[in-house]
Amino acid sequence: MVNLARLAEASLDRHGDYPALCFEGAWHTSGESHDRATRLAGGLRELGVRPGDRVAVVMANCPEVSQVYQAVWRAGAVVTPVVFLVTADELGHVLRDSGAVAVVTSPELLPKFGELLKAGNVPAVVVGTPSFEALLAADPAPITDRGPDELAALLYTGGTTGRSKGVALTHANLAHAGRVSREAAHTPGLNTGITALPLSHSYGLMVTVGAMQAVEPPVAVLQRWFEPAGWLRLAAEQRAQTAAVVPSMIVMLLGQPLAATDLSALRFVFSGAAPLPPAAAEAFERLVPSARVLEGYGCTETGGIVSGSPLDAPRRGTVGKPLEGIEVRLGDDGEILVRGPNVMRGYWGTDSGIADGWFATGDVGTIDGDGYLSIVDRKKDLIIRGGFNVYPRDVEDVLTAHPAVAMAAVVGRPDERLGEEVVAFVSLTGGEGGGAQVTAEDLDAYARAHLAPTKRPREIHVLEQIPLTSVGKLNRKALRALL
Ligand code: ATP
Repeated sequence: MVNLARLAEASLDRHGDYPALCFEGAWHTSGESHDRATRLAGGLRELGVRPGDRVAVVMANCPEVSQVYQAVWRAGAVVTPVVFLVTADELGHVLRDSGAVAVVTSPELLPKFGELLKAGNVPAVVVGTPSFEALLAADPAPITDRGPDELAALLYTGGTTGRSKGVALTHANLAHAGRVSREAAHTPGLNTGITALPLSHSYGLMVTVGAMQAVEPPVAVLQRWFEPAGWLRLAAEQRAQTAAVVPSMIVMLLGQPLAATDLSALRFVFSGAAPLPPAAAEAFERLVPSARVLEGYGCTETGGIVSGSPLDAPRRGTVGKPLEGIEVRLGDDGEILVRGPNVMRGYWGTDSGIADGWFATGDVGTIDGDGYLSIVDRKKDLIIRGGFNVYPRDVEDVLTAHPAVAMAAVVGRPDERLGEEVVAFVSLTGGEGGGAQVTAEDLDAYARAHLAPTKRPREIHVLEQIPLTSVGKLNRKALRALL
C-alpha cells in the first residue's frame, strides 16, 4: 500500500484517537485531524479540484498544514508546498509553473499575496475565514485512489541558481523516504518529537510522512517557525525526546540557557539539510548530556533523505550510511550519485534530471571503508583560488571551532590575479565569554595559525547575523551580494 491517503488511514486504525499534536498550547487528537482532513477533501472536490490537480499550500507551520496535505492526497490531488517566506514574485512563478488550481494560505499572508491571488484567477482558501470553513462544512470524502507512481507532491527547490524548478515526487517516493527515515530513527518508547522545520520543505514533509508510518503512536510538538527561546521552553515543558533540526538551529540554541533548562528527556537531535559544524554538535552535547546530535543527509530530489547516522554507531563528521533501499556511488569527480525508490521521477514539465535512475546531487563526497558517507561540499560552492581548490566548508569548520564564533560562511570573490579570493563572514556568540571582545584582527591571527595560506580568508567580516534561507541554511547568494 503506497498511497499516502491510505497510509494516513492505516495510522489512525493502528493507533486510534489520541492527543497527537501540540501547537501553541493546544492539543489536537489524531481523530479530530483525520475528520477535518476527510471534510476538507470533500470541500476541495466541491471547489473543483480533480485527481492530479496541483493545490498550493503557503502557510507557516500550523495544524491545518498537515490536515490540508492529507485532504489533497485523499482527493487524489498533488500538494505544492511553498515556504511562506517567499516573495509574491516567487509564488507567482510557482503558481504559473505548477498550474495550481487552488491556493490554501493563512490570513497574515494576504497583505503580501492578496493581489497576486486576485490577479491570477486561482481560488484562494484562507484558514480561519469563511472560505476555509466552507470546505470544512462539506461531507467527508472517501479516498480517490492513486497509484504509487502517480504524483503526490511538487516541491520547488530554493532556486539559489536561477529560477526554481519543480521536483516531482510520487506517493512511492515520499512513502519510502518517510518510512526508512522514521525506522532509522526509531527507539522504542521515544515518540515525542519537537519540530520547528517548515513542513513545506522536503525535510519537514519527510518527517510528516514518516510519522504516518510510525510503529508507535507519534506525538508532535510543533512550532510555527523556529524561535530559540520558545523552542527551548516547549522542548522542556513537553519533555521532547527527539528533535528534527537544521544546524543553524543548534547554533542559535547554544546562545540560550541550555544547561539551566531541564532537557533530560531529550535523547536524539537529528540534524540535516546543511553541514553540521562539529564544534556546535559537541557544545550542544556537553550542555545537554542526555542528547546525541546525529547527522543525516538528503535533497528535495530524493524525498528529503539519502543517509542517516546509525543510532548505535554514529560517526561524527559523517552523515551516516545510505538508508534502506537507497544506493549511493561517487562519480569520477567525487560527485554523490543516488538511486532508489525515494528518487524523484524528474523535474516537473521536463522529466529530466535522472539518468538510468541515478540522480546527480551536485555534492562532492567520500565513502569510508565501513560505508559511512561524508559530504565535502557542494560543487557549485567550490572556490578556485590561484588554481587551488578551496571548499568553503573546510574553512567554516575551522572558524566555528573558535569559541567566539557562532556561525561562519565563506564565499569566493572574483579576483583578477587569482581568479577568486576567499572571503569569510562570521557572527559571534553572545553572552559571557562570548565574542564581544573579539575583533576581525584576532580572527585573522587565528585563521593564520589554523589554515593553510591557500585557504586562509583574506577578509573576515563580522556580521550581527549571518543571512539564512527559509529552512535555515547559509544564504550564500545574500552574502555574495555583500561583496
Ligand atoms: P537550491 O537547489 O535552490 O540551491 P538546495 O540545494 O539547498 O536549494 P535542498 O534540496 O533543500 O536544495 O537541499 C539539498 C542540499 O542540502 C544537498 O544537495 C546538500 O548540498 C545540502 N545538505 C543536506 N544535508 C546536508 C548535510 N548533512 N551536510 C551537508 N550538506 C547537506
